Amino acid sequence: MDLPFFFLDFDGVVCDSLPECFISSRRAYHEHLKGESLPPATAREKELFHRYRPFIRNGEDYLLLHDLIARGVEVHVQEDLDREIASRGRETMDRYGRLFYRAREEFLREDREFWLELNPLFPGMGEILEKVLGHPKFYILSTKKAEFILEILAHHRIPWREDRVIFSGPRPKGEVIRDLLSREGGGEAVFVDDQLDHLLTAGKMGGIRTYLASWGYVKPRWLENGEVPALDREGLAELVEPFRFPAPPDSRRLSGEGGIPWER
Ligand SMILES: [Mg+2]
Repeated sequence: MDLPFFFLDFDGVVCDSLPECFISSRRAYHEHLKGESLPPATAREKELFHRYRPFIRNGEDYLLLHDLIARGVEVHVQEDLDREIASRGRETMDRYGRLFYRAREEFLREDREFWLELNPLFPGMGEILEKVLGHPKFYILSTKKAEFILEILAHHRIPWREDRVIFSGPRPKGEVIRDLLSREGGGEAVFVDDQLDHLLTAGKMGGIRTYLASWGYVKPRWLENGEVPALDREGLAELVEPFRFPAPPDSRRLSGEGGIPWER
């Protein structure tokens, strides 16, 4: 049986990018959106940013998050954030996205090393990526632009291929996967992410097996209620084993009978 296509999220799955996203989006919010100088970050602000992070889908959402924190608006479930996104409208959200990337580019230009150091990989993830490097069916699928992902991976000495990164933009990731599958003439997909809504949407599309990355920016209740099966990093390492590339000499055994979790 053919291997499925594999889609791995980046922020919160490969890269522990919360510090970078906090700093870049904070600069974008205060300096570029509000036109004010950057105030010192408070402990409360950091705590709320961390608490609300699991509901973020895109770069543009971070600016909204800063605004909600500043206004004291609470976010308990995905719908709380989505209501705010809808009320701001597409034009405003697009602007948030542009300002976020502008701040990120400024950091990269001004202090490249500082910016890169804010993007550590989760333990073991570098080894997992090296294992599957260059596999034609293995992709990083992210709402972060590919150039930044490649930049971060290069910093960690992982020469990931540009054509194995897909930037989903504001589109639901499930749709992006479905389109790729149809372009490739069908087949199945495995999708590992830490954002529950991306997984739920993709899971409804058929042919996409979804896993919640338990080490990412997840809510404990997402792990408890089991709507999407949770995966730890050891589980991920096992799941990607058949994608080892170049394939080991005994790869025919791996793609044959038994042992592969998505075989029926
Ligand atoms: Mg993520």
